[in-house]
Amino acid sequence: MERFIKISLYGVVFGFVLVLSSFFNLCSAQSVLTDAELKAKYQNNNIKILIVPGHDGESQTGTYFKGIYERDLNLQLADDLYNLLENDGHFSVFITRDKNGYLPIFENYFKDQATSTRLFIEKYKQITDSAIANGTFKVQTDGIDHPVVANDYALRLYGTNKWADENNIDIVINIHFDDYPGRSADQVGVYSGFSIYAPESQLVNSEISQSVAKSVSVELSKVQSSSDYQPEHTSVVDDQDLIAIGANSTLNAAAILVEYGYIYESQIINKNIRSVIFPEYAYKTYLGVVKFLDDNFKVNGYDSALLPYKFSNNLYFGMRNNSEVAKLQEMLNYEGFYSGPITGNFLHDTQQAVIDLQKNNTADISVASGYVGPQTVKLLNKKEIESFSYVWNDDLYYGMKNNADVRALQEILSLEGFYNGPITGNFLNLTRQSVITCQKKSKFSSNPGTGYVGPLTRGALNNLYSVSQ
Ligand SMILES: [Zn+2]
Repeated sequence: MERFIKISLYGVVFGFVLVLSSFFNLCSAQSVLTDAELKAKYQNNNIKILIVPGHDGESQTGTYFKGIYERDLNLQLADDLYNLLENDGHFSVFITRDKNGYLPIFENYFKDQATSTRLFIEKYKQITDSAIANGTFKVQTDGIDHPVVANDYALRLYGTNKWADENNIDIVINIHFDDYPGRSADQVGVYSGFSIYAPESQLVNSEISQSVAKSVSVELSKVQSSSDYQPEHTSVVDDQDLIAIGANSTLNAAAILVEYGYIYESQIINKNIRSVIFPEYAYKTYLGVVKFLDDNFKVNGYDSALLPYKFSNNLYFGMRNNSEVAKLQEMLNYEGFYSGPITGNFLHDTQQAVIDLQKNNTADISVASGYVGPQTVKLLNKKEIESFSYVWNDDLYYGMKNNADVRALQEILSLEGFYNGPITGNFLNLTRQSVITCQKKSKFSSNPGTGYVGPLTRGALNNLYSVSQ
């Protein structure tokens, strides 16, 4: 009897251990992936991305400039990036918060998991501490004075890492705008440009993160200068302290934190130009991610949210915060005459690039004035844009995929300056939003802004584009 009890107890304990261990196997995150493993997941449309718009509405607003809070800018750019990634079809995309605050899934997680998150933090801090003590981990600083985060925010950041690990998130993208200590609140500061923080080599997710960071950096540098703040001069900055990218090796996903520019830069602070520049920053981030994952990636001829575009107005020196100037700069960049940042400001660099374009395209260099008049507009508008035509016959609406009519719709919305995404033929959020904008601006119907391309909108599009122009 006694013996039996022992055996059966053994059996119970043993069985319990089995259950426990399989429970842990189920719960435990995938280990850190190699570049090749992540690329293979992309081919299977199996990548999970978490977008984290930096700071939040609770205790953390981030930095601030003349009535504009960083947390709101972060959210705006995060939305653009979310739509682009969702539009792609290879990704499951998650975001921590929207304009109403944290999404319920995160709000609840932070609440329910507060205690286990504290244990999670304790555990990983202890591992790091003993590694420091036995000399296998070296404390380093990136030389930047990061603001110390409040305890409750730190808990949400670590909670986000824990959630990401448990949910097998592959890539985490944190979105921020930069600042530096000592700038007085309403004063434009001295630094400008973007930088990307990635975990340094001792952290578990370093290698994969650095690969993603470098690829995004290459794309972003085509439209924004890299930071001229000395500690950020490398564009990709190695860091071991930022919780958001996995301090204490709390994150298995590839993680980057992008500072898209300093908050007081004109293209960031001006609302009009921001509405054109942010989709482009998002687009370059998106391209950086997919170009890393897929060596053969190609969406359209321009690799830009600003093009194609049909130029029509005169553009000249002195114009500022102008969306057509931004598109001009992008086109000049595409043609190889301009390599500066896309700002929407028509200043000396842009003027010189226009002069170079003009010189390159005419025998009479006396017309190379740097002024964009009708002749130069013609030069900028490629033949296929001048002659673009299409006839739509069917209704188009949210949810359609890989559709030729939708593809043509996206092209003309882009030419008209309403669409900032890749030409995919997928009618998702990005396309619906631009249809709504187009309908509102063009008053296609008595009930504008439905996002549905029915007979009225279609009729208007056909009037504009069914005849070769
Ligand atoms: Zn920030």
